[in-house]
Parts: sequence; C-alpha cells; structure tokens
Amino acid sequence: MNDFELDKLYIAGTYKRFPVEIVSGKGSIVEDNNGKKYIDMGSGIGVTAFGIADEQWIKAVDDQIHKIQHMSNLYYTEPDIKLAQMLCQRTGMKKVFFCNSGAESNECAIKVARKYAAEKYGSDRYTIVTLKNSFHGRTLTTLAATGQDVFHKLFQPLTPGFACIDPGDIDQLKVIHEKTPVAGVLIECIQGEGGVMPLDKEFVKALYEYCQEKDIVFMVDEVQTGNGRSGHLYSYIAFDVKPDVVSTAKGLAGGLPFGATMMGEKCENILGPGDHGSTFGGNPVCSAAALSVLSRIDDGLLADVRAKSKYIFDQLSNAEGVESVSGMGLMIGIKTKKAAIDVVNECIEKGVLCLTAKDRVRLLPALNIPMEVLKVAVEVIQDSCAD
Ligand SMILES: *Cc1c(COP(=O)(O)O)cnc(C)c1O
Repeated sequence: MNDFELDKLYIAGTYKRFPVEIVSGKGSIVEDNNGKKYIDMGSGIGVTAFGIADEQWIKAVDDQIHKIQHMSNLYYTEPDIKLAQMLCQRTGMKKVFFCNSGAESNECAIKVARKYAAEKYGSDRYTIVTLKNSFHGRTLTTLAATGQDVFHKLFQPLTPGFACIDPGDIDQLKVIHEKTPVAGVLIECIQGEGGVMPLDKEFVKALYEYCQEKDIVFMVDEVQTGNGRSGHLYSYIAFDVKPDVVSTAKGLAGGLPFGATMMGEKCENILGPGDHGSTFGGNPVCSAAALSVLSRIDDGLLADVRAKSKYIFDQLSNAEGVESVSGMGLMIGIKTKKAAIDVVNECIEKGVLCLTAKDRVRLLPALNIPMEVLKVAVEVIQDSCAD
C-alpha cells in the first residue's frame, strides 16, 4: 500500500487532503516525496511565520530542548515568564495564560468573560455574542461561538449561551443585551476562515464603544490575524480599539502547537488558582520558539509585510480571472472567476501551494518570504486564475 492508502486506512477522515506528501523544506520552499519543489503560500495555515527550518527558530528550539523539554505548571520556568513579559510590554495587556491551540485560547477568553460577568452581575449574565461568518475553533464551545451553521450540524447540543449577529449591525447587539444581558463579545477583525473578510472599521469601533459603555468584555480572536500576519503586531491595533481579552495561536511559536490568551486591565485578576489550567500549556520549548518569533516581528518586518501585501494586491486586483482581492497584510483572499479549488489544484501542478477559505483562494505565506520567491508565486497564481 502507498502512503495515501495507508493514511486512508488508519487516519480519521477529517481532512480532504491534496495528493501531495511533503517531506522537507527550507524557508518558503517545500519538497514532496518525489523531489518536486513547491513555493509554500500557506505556511501550514499561517503557522510557520518565518518559514520552514528557519535557522534562528531552530536555534531557539534546540537550545531550549537541550535544557528542559517540559516542566509542569507547578514550578516556574524562565521562557514563559520572559514571553509573558514581552507580550504584555508590546501590547499593553496585563496578564497572559498559555495553552496549546487557537480553540483553547478562545475557550480561556470565554471563561474569563463569563467569570467577570458572573462575579459582577450575577449568574444570568453569561451570553457571548459573536458574528456570522466567524470561525473560533472546533471544540463544542468554540463551535457554538462559530457563526457558520455548516460546522454545527449533527453536533447538537452545543454549549448554550451564545448568540450571533450580522457583521456591521450593532443594533442587533443592543437588542440582545436589552433582552438577555451580554457577558462578552468575541470577534475576528479579519474573518479568516470566513473568506478573509476584514470587518468595517467603524463597526469594530462602535462594538468596542458599546462594550465599554455596558461593561461587556470585548474580546478579539487574533489566532490567525495575530503575530504580524496583518502587517501589525495584532490586527486590533489597525482597527484602533483596545480589547479586554486577546486570544492568539497559529503563528505565535512559528510551527509548534501554542496559544495564548492575554487579559487587559478589566480582566487581569479574573482567573485565580484552579479556575483554568493546561498540562502542556506554557511548554518551555514552545515559549522559547515564541520568544524568538515575537522578537523578530519589529517595525521593519511589519513594514515589509505591508509592502509585500501591496505588491500582491497590485498584481492580482486587476488580473485576468480575478474578481476581487480582500484581506490585510499577508492574509489575502482572492475571489476568482473559476472555482477556487480549481485554481488551487492548477497552482499545485505548477509548484505553488495555496489555501482556500470559503469560495476564495487564500494566501498566508511566511512573513519573511523573499520578494523574488513571492514574485514567482504571484505569476503562477495569475496564470492559474486566467484561461
Ligand atoms: C484557526 C483558527 C482557530 C482555531 O485554532 P486551532 O489551533 O485549530 O484550534 C480559531 N480562531 C481563528 C480565527 C482561527 O483562524
């Protein structure tokens, strides 16, 4: 049996995979088991922030793994402390909880909002409001938060206490809050899985202001948009708001499973001993990797991300077979005349790996993809969108 057949035999069928087996890579180039090379425009869904087998990242991981690979949260470890300090100093947030994935970082955010509201207003203030077309994870609670019915079917009942409003319509939040008090609001400033759709800036500000006025915990899901992806350290910075809670994961540790939930002034003291925890959370190897990743996301790199973003927008916006381009930074959605999946398959044949998000082709290249590599990839994408 070949590997595709063995995979089908032994691995749960949760993923529709492309017929490619990747074995190695360097930077933004990956290689399959037949020696064919591809430009990686997906970076493991926005995870390998500085590409594959990046030297600085390897050194950070290697140094730490030779010191200690895991220690329980019953003891102090230096990489966690340094990383939490760096995150707080760079964002103005006050406290950090570490976990292992995006869904978990949102679970923590939701628990913080619920406890804040329950302590201050009583146990009937538990509703969490999210947006239609959002994506917040695959656990039963983060599925409840996810505003796309396709993910809900056959998994009922989901965690109760969630409500969903249309992006752009603040009045729907007001109506809900007047009927059933709202504990928290959770949004992605750029809806990633929903097709790389940035929210309207005025709407985000209106949400933020209403939440402040009503003492509703305002949470931003930066799992995909965070850690430089949007051309800003976190996307909320570009939307001119100051969240009470920020969740992040994907690119944070550059390829290791890691997540973080950051709490601002309003919520910094909500979690106490026993309220939450994670055996693997704050793994020192992941923290060391994240320290290395974050310390490289400086103004120069962010300016570079925005410049490459502009290049992609300029090249693709009026290209043949392209209807529109959406997104921010190196998080880009392309609405194509052809079906997105056909474009992606054509790109694979021509040696470029792209993603989809809903009906769009999605690009999430490494933040440091070299310009000459990006140029080749964009040409192949242009080519595949046309004819
Ligand atoms: C990917 C993603 C998640 C889920 O992250 P996992 O690590 O798969 O649990 C949550 N929210 C957003 C915005 C995401 O893009």
